[in-house]
Amino acid sequence: MSKTALSFEVIPPRNDAEWEAVPGLLELLESYNPDYVAVTSARGTGWAQGTADFIEKISTTTSLRPLAHLTCTSGTVEELLSWVDAFVDSGVRGFLALRGDLPAGATSTPPGHLDHADALVHLLRTIEKQNVARLCAGRLAVGVAAYPQGHPESANFDEDIDVLAAKARNGADFAITQLFFETDAYARLLDQANLAGIDIPIIPGLMPITGQKRLDRMCKLSGLTPPGWIVDALTMAATPEDAYRIGLDISAQLARAIIDSGAPGLHIYTFNNPQTVTDFTALLPKGTS
Ligand code: FAD
Repeated sequence: MSKTALSFEVIPPRNDAEWEAVPGLLELLESYNPDYVAVTSARGTGWAQGTADFIEKISTTTSLRPLAHLTCTSGTVEELLSWVDAFVDSGVRGFLALRGDLPAGATSTPPGHLDHADALVHLLRTIEKQNVARLCAGRLAVGVAAYPQGHPESANFDEDIDVLAAKARNGADFAITQLFFETDAYARLLDQANLAGIDIPIIPGLMPITGQKRLDRMCKLSGLTPPGWIVDALTMAATPEDAYRIGLDISAQLARAIIDSGAPGLHIYTFNNPQTVTDFTALLPKGTS
């Protein structure tokens, strides 16, 4: 029997006001009984330290299972080894292995850092092999990123598939996708991955569209161009509230089509906004949330 997985992505708080909103957010997420909650890692939130602090809050105040994002950009190999050790000690058994966003103008990670996510998957599996006795009550689950609309640095889609295959060969258990706008993009990724013999589940990452500003910012960060029809629909909205409703409707339509296509899970980018999570999940078929 297999059940569609449900997961949420959250961002470590950056200041006291954001920390104050955390209990309400976590209480809401817990009410959906998700399979895991993925905690991001970024320069602006203190890289692995921010992830670890938020995971500690999640683990000590809720029954949610955390998945730690770990990036090559966040530290040297020695620093990553010590972070993985600390995460495992704190009970984390799931990682999303990423290269990480490079600072503007950079074309590679700094010296002493791993270059790419496939090497980080390999490092995690090596650590796992060296710590089998510590992991008797649960081995590591290692996920990676996948790109239905292609990664902006890749020469072409074939490169993205080759890289995903390398990550799977190195031991990735699953992939979560970058946001995307058309069901066809996700279907193409699944088809090409299948042809390349990649048999790990590829979980769609879904971003609730809440307005033009969020859409523009996320597209800029992900190197995507929003489809004209979505931009037109948001631009024609009479008020920000209308744009919010139209955006969520568009995102929910995509989510419903993806669920109907038999996706192994739904990974919802929350942006730590409980209202958006509530409004978006209300538009999904019963049983999803
Ligand atoms: P890689 O797999 O290393 O790929 C990056 C580029 O290098 C691609 O063009 C790829 O084709 C190429 N490449 C890969 N391997 C090789 C190789 N061995 N040799 C040559 N070229 C190679 N960023 C953050 O900073 N923090 C986060 O918490 C975070 N969470 C994310 C969650 C999800 C679900 C997704 C989809 C992305 C997330 N990102 C995050 C963004 C991610 O870090 C960026 O997209 C980054 O630019 C690439 O990460 P990656 O792991 O795909 O890198």
